[in-house]
Amino acid sequence: MNDPVSAEQRSATVYVRLRNVTKLYRSRRESVAAVSNVNLDIATGEFVSIIGPRGCGKSTLMSIVAGLIPVSSGSVSIAGRTVKKAQTEIGTVFPDPILLDSRSVLENVLLQAEIRDLDEQEYVPRAERLIELAGLKAVRDTQLFGLSPAHRQRVTVCRAFVHDPPLLLLDEPFAGLDAAHRQQAVLDLQKVWMFSPKTVLYIASSVAEAVLLSDRVIVMTPAPGTVEADVAIEVPRPRLLDAATLAELKPYAEQIRRIFEGHGIQPEDQPAA
Ligand code: ADP
Ligand code: MG
Repeated sequence: MNDPVSAEQRSATVYVRLRNVTKLYRSRRESVAAVSNVNLDIATGEFVSIIGPRGCGKSTLMSIVAGLIPVSSGSVSIAGRTVKKAQTEIGTVFPDPILLDSRSVLENVLLQAEIRDLDEQEYVPRAERLIELAGLKAVRDTQLFGLSPAHRQRVTVCRAFVHDPPLLLLDEPFAGLDAAHRQQAVLDLQKVWMFSPKTVLYIASSVAEAVLLSDRVIVMTPAPGTVEADVAIEVPRPRLLDAATLAELKPYAEQIRRIFEGHGIQPEDQPAA
């Protein structure tokens, strides 16, 4: 553990680093502390979830990492470079994605290549593979108009992966789905990620989805959010919803739920895991 060589190797693989990140939203009348002194290292290829009570600053952290809003103090770096402006080498999924109803599923996935001015044709095979993994093969050429919210949300996940970005920022991508669709979408995301294991920062809407998907779950305190716990989920993938896997995940989920309950907060959750 204290071997200096392994510590060095570990730090060499850090892809995203947050140091003492504090954000105050200031208006003329008041100043709201959204996050306070957040420290977090995410290794290359790691899937890290953040979970915390509503309003604890999760989306704020995401926007800071994406370079969309500045920190009030502290620093963020990606691949050793300080984040100072909007990052282009990332894929994002936010809760209300922009999709083009008149275009097909495949065309919406390829939109990513189009807006980045990449050669779309080159990305067709990868887009098709992602569409298949996400369970969208049957609707590949169907116009988005009329497709269910579950389908639409999966289109956005494929789109975030299609240009092969080294970092994905996913902010409660399935929050709008009902429990059954959300569970399937989470399993499909796991499949897509195993096919293309990127560094992921995922804001989870439930404890169950956080432990199912993640290498580590970061639990934040109520606002202004800071890191309260960093829980490594040591369960091999793929993690499916069979009894044996659910039993392995359960102690992690209980540990996280106890932290919420310690603050008098009921974790929003689905019963499955
Ligand atoms: P979460 O995603 O965890 O629900 P947010 O990051 O959206 O939390 O918000 C954290 C806090 O910052 C909340 O109190 C919210 O009202 C406030 N906040 C978020 N965005 C802004 C903004 N643009 N201006 C002022 N306050 C904001
Ligand atoms: Mg949010």
